[in-house]
Amino acid sequence: MPFPSVLGHDRVKGLLARALGQGRLPPALLLSGPEGVGKRTLALAVARGLLCEKGPGEPCGQCRTCDRTARAIHPDLIVVIPETATGFLARETIKIEHVRDAVREIAGLPFEARARAIVIDDAHAMTEQAMNALLKSLEEPPATSHLMLVTASPQALLPTIRSRCQTLRFGPLPSALLESHLQERLALSAADARLRAALSGGSLGAALAFEADGYRALRDQALAMLEKAAGAGAVHRLQWSEQLAEAEDPFLALTAVRSLLRDVAAARAGAAGESLLNADVAARVAAVAAGPLGARAVALVDTVEEVRTNLRANASRPMSMDVLIDALAG
Ligand SMILES: [Zn+2]
Repeated sequence: MPFPSVLGHDRVKGLLARALGQGRLPPALLLSGPEGVGKRTLALAVARGLLCEKGPGEPCGQCRTCDRTARAIHPDLIVVIPETATGFLARETIKIEHVRDAVREIAGLPFEARARAIVIDDAHAMTEQAMNALLKSLEEPPATSHLMLVTASPQALLPTIRSRCQTLRFGPLPSALLESHLQERLALSAADARLRAALSGGSLGAALAFEADGYRALRDQALAMLEKAAGAGAVHRLQWSEQLAEAEDPFLALTAVRSLLRDVAAARAGAAGESLLNADVAARVAAVAAGPLGARAVALVDTVEEVRTNLRANASRPMSMDVLIDALAG
């Protein structure tokens, strides 16, 4: 399979390898899909393969050009990434001055290599001014220039930019693939790898960044809560709601609650032991499944999802967690 440095996405990788090998790489590509699935890694590999002295094809990894593109010091490989603005409303943006440099590079001929590659990562972070500047350069780029835009939010790009790019869509990585990769790369046990893969939503980045210890601590808190939740009194409810609202990472806390509720629903449907995400606490999960919470577990998974969506839309944390705790208490 081409581009072994990128996990999965065989179809997209095959397409790009063929286009590169035949010298038919489109002048502008848009690589879109969820965070952490390998879009930028693949864009950089394609860019390096375009410049490689033995190419175009996959980067050989041995020539002087490959050595320099790997260290990001080749003049014909230009990578633009957002920078964090400071102050109130700090956010990551790509400003017009950065894009202007890129635009100049797109318009120019290669210094040394046969082609020139410009990769704009998190392209949705471009300001509108920046997008308009980029648009001009897409009108008549020299045949030697190749632009690759990488984004998880293609809808945030100007439609005129999208329409000038050939779009390559990346889906989430399949759980089984993530699992075996994690087992191999991090030497995780099968159970740990399955847990991480299941909680990462198909993102290798999320699976690698996953903090197993932090998760376990939150999970144990959540399990203790689920064991006593049904019919709990006001004092307990308040305490749990505060605990969740004050969690350092409330999304991870919700992930823990959700993974347990999924297991409770699965246990109620007859699943046991190793087939549960939280296999290490299977007996306690089974006990919750047999109790009053068991029958409501499926609906409660949806409630957790709603709370998560609301939090993402900046709903008040304490109020959102109150909603969840009330639903759990029934
Ligand atoms: Zn090379």
